[in-house]
Amino acid sequence: MHKAMRFGALALGLLCAVQTNAASIPQGPHGGIAVVPLDAVEAVQSVTFLNKAQLIVEDYAIIALPLFHDVGEQEVQVTYDDGSIRNVVIKVLDKQYPEERITVTDQEHVTPSPRNLERIGKESARMRAAYARFSSQPPNLLPIVQPVEGRTSGVFGSRRFFNDQPRNPHSGIDWAAPTGTPIKSPAPGKVVVVGDFFFNGITVQIDHGGGFISMMCHLSEALVEEGQTIKRGAIIGKVGTTGRSTGPHLHWSVSLSGERIDPAVFMAVLNALHED
Ligand SMILES: [Zn+2]
Repeated sequence: MHKAMRFGALALGLLCAVQTNAASIPQGPHGGIAVVPLDAVEAVQSVTFLNKAQLIVEDYAIIALPLFHDVGEQEVQVTYDDGSIRNVVIKVLDKQYPEERITVTDQEHVTPSPRNLERIGKESARMRAAYARFSSQPPNLLPIVQPVEGRTSGVFGSRRFFNDQPRNPHSGIDWAAPTGTPIKSPAPGKVVVVGDFFFNGITVQIDHGGGFISMMCHLSEALVEEGQTIKRGAIIGKVGTTGRSTGPHLHWSVSLSGERIDPAVFMAVLNALHED
């Protein structure tokens, strides 16, 4: 009896040790984020992962874990103003993303003509350039506001087939909402791209600073201009179904340090940090 109790206490102790240890390693799935708590955040100059500066909000570094990153331990570098560097181990976890099969009526949206391929190339370059930005960030980045309310009609990371042809994984989240529904900016920022693109339709990209860029697609109308500074919750456009789309919805991509990550995870985790 006594022995059993002692064993029980020992087992519990081990369990706690394991849990504490696991909890102390910042971790998240590929395509998600890892949150690294920062000591003396006012003395932190930068936090880098895979040689790219990462977003810092409040007392945390938000590490973007690329969708195609290998699972396992990695190091994040925290550089302080005095030049000292602290390496922090993080863990990239496995995640199974679902498969999604979509039927579109316009075959050009599945196998574009050479002329459209040229257009698509130019448009991607423009969007990538916006994603590569790393501007100073507003002090009040949080909370993140959900751009529209609606049923989630598409999740981040799904492996997509258009008319049975494999295509890129889904780079954002989709919410079904009626055409004309106002779309809010999730955070303060600056409008860096307004365009009408082959796949994404009428599109707005917003630079929120610190490498955090939003992209809103398939709008019926954009209500902002490039270069405009906007507040959290500002109406940037209206829901539509322009581009490669099967019905009115909003597509929201979140890019961190040039990597598209799961907007639902991003919003939930950052807002929870903000409330703490
Ligand atoms: Zn989408």
